[in-house]
Amino acid sequence: MRLTVLGTGTARPVADTAASGILIQTDRTAVLFDIGSGIASRLEATVGAAALDGLVVGHMHADHWIDIAPLRYRFPWGEPAPRPLPIHLPPGGREKLELLAAVISERAGFFDPAFDVREYATGETLRIGDLTIRPHPVGHYVPAWSMDIEGPGGERIVYAGDMGPSEMVVDLARGADLLILEATLESSTFDDARRGHLTAEEAVDHVLRAGVPRGILVHYPSERRAAIAAICAPTDGRVVPAITGMVIDIRRGAVPARAVAGGASPQETVSRG
Ligand SMILES: [Zn+2]
Ligand SMILES: [Zn+2]
Repeated sequence: MRLTVLGTGTARPVADTAASGILIQTDRTAVLFDIGSGIASRLEATVGAAALDGLVVGHMHADHWIDIAPLRYRFPWGEPAPRPLPIHLPPGGREKLELLAAVISERAGFFDPAFDVREYATGETLRIGDLTIRPHPVGHYVPAWSMDIEGPGGERIVYAGDMGPSEMVVDLARGADLLILEATLESSTFDDARRGHLTAEEAVDHVLRAGVPRGILVHYPSERRAAIAAICAPTDGRVVPAITGMVIDIRRGAVPARAVAGGASPQETVSRG
């Protein structure tokens, strides 16, 4: 499995990255997880939307799905796409998509010719090509799901998405090869009493307690990258802030994560270990 980070930003637009978007590929499958602002363009700079086998959205905040609108314009206009793109949205997502078509002055059913829209449910298993994906609900300000993503060789990535501290995700990530966590907050005092985001310290703690060989942090303010790298430093490269364009190969029996510690290299290999 190969992961490409298409964006590391939060909802606030910044110069050096798009919002949320993670591309995961195998030899025969390509799936995009989240399509926040700026991601549709970043996707065209990599495999391109036409090469996707599916799109999975973890929750319906703009920084995780708003670029589904420009994505629509990538597909044939006025005629059905030869192969509509399967789009997996949270429960209620189909209705929100229709509302989005209306507010951008497009006709009803605007998304239908290009997308095969489905709504997933907790406990369901999605199969897209040779990827197996299981959504797990997490605590956020709106209903949100973490994704447990398994490749054809049994390799696993957990993409937690936006969430407050979660023992469920610590448990879920045990035995995974990579844990992708958000690091939105500078301090937990900035959050609601019912938590919806993580600090970098909390994210590092989740990776270490889950025992995964590697964690990357996304969904953080770019100007805090150096501070977050300093928070990660005691892990010796096991946890690093992701940067846009970072590619990580995940396969069995490869170079252990410790051998590529530092996180500076744009392409790295993580052992299933
Ligand atoms: Zn959110
Ligand atoms: Zn977000």
